[in-house]
Amino acid sequence: LEHAKFGQHLLKNPLIVDGMVERAALRSTDTVLEVGPGTGNLTIKLLPKAKKVIAYEVDQRMVAEVIKRARNAGMERKLEVIVGDICKSGDLPPFDICVANIPYQISSPLVFKLLLHRPAFRCAILMVQREFAQRLVAQPGDKLYCRLSINTQLLSKVEHLIKVGKNNFRPPPKVDSSVIRIEPRFPPPPLNFGEWDALTRIAFSRKNKTLLANFKTAAVIASLSRNYASTNPHLIQSSVSVVPAQTHQVGHTPKVLIKPTPSSSNEKSSGFMDFQQLEKLVMDKVEKVLFSIKFNDKRARSLDVDDFIKLLVEFNKEGIHFV
Ligand code: SAM
Repeated sequence: LEHAKFGQHLLKNPLIVDGMVERAALRSTDTVLEVGPGTGNLTIKLLPKAKKVIAYEVDQRMVAEVIKRARNAGMERKLEVIVGDICKSGDLPPFDICVANIPYQISSPLVFKLLLHRPAFRCAILMVQREFAQRLVAQPGDKLYCRLSINTQLLSKVEHLIKVGKNNFRPPPKVDSSVIRIEPRFPPPPLNFGEWDALTRIAFSRKNKTLLANFKTAAVIASLSRNYASTNPHLIQSSVSVVPAQTHQVGHTPKVLIKPTPSSSNEKSSGFMDFQQLEKLVMDKVEKVLFSIKFNDKRARSLDVDDFIKLLVEFNKEGIHFV
């Protein structure tokens, strides 16, 4: 079943198509990105209002259909179709606006591909699954509040625009849909997204536990300790035996870390920090940060984007890094 594999639910209600185009507020100078034009129900209404439409479509039969439709309307010069899976297509070309009734199975990767694209686009008007829309706009305390909510809200402002029932599509999907508007934040927040991602994964790892409990697990402390060691190379030697004698001069106590190899417990040596000591140090720092901003007893589901930014900044100030 091709339509199931490619999420081909064509939007048959022209009022909703018109509503999406209207909310895009296109300018005649705009390049529009469309994802999955299908037979071109949306494309054909975007073409007259835009300078150009660039459409990614994975299904050859749909590609032929949308090109034919644009040609019949005399607008084929404005349409560029890129044949293939948008998720596997490398960097996107520059675009001003994205308007699309997207295939729901690629919702998450597509939203992040759009949000991480540079230069940033002006806005995206997307038809998505209702529950996905609810996750994107969820606030602390809402049932559907999750990592997807804060990751999206970190990078953009998301607005729920129109509820769309199943019967507006052919064939009708199993789930209800919603039109949303996404506007990238400008400038983007000045933080390391790899660190952000790792921190929020830990915070949300066990939804009903406190932050203190989630950040103090053995696995997390071990991982943060390895990061601490690699960002503090002056603490590290692969073993005591390779430390040259001259390191021990000028009257300070040398702190040398023994890497956490299974044999390291035999190699403990006075004056050097071993991995257990390092873990203790990191554990103390983690507690210090969480207590200092009174987040120790909080749960991830009650914190908003600004709270998580604050948490990352405070950890970084203590030298705690997540990648
Ligand atoms: N825009 C049309 C409409 O509203 O009538 C069709 C929308 S339909 C929900 C999704 C479209 O995306 C289908 O035409 C499908 O072939 C295409 N598609 C599915 N996966 C894709 C992918 N990974 N990359 C590009 N297009 C894809």
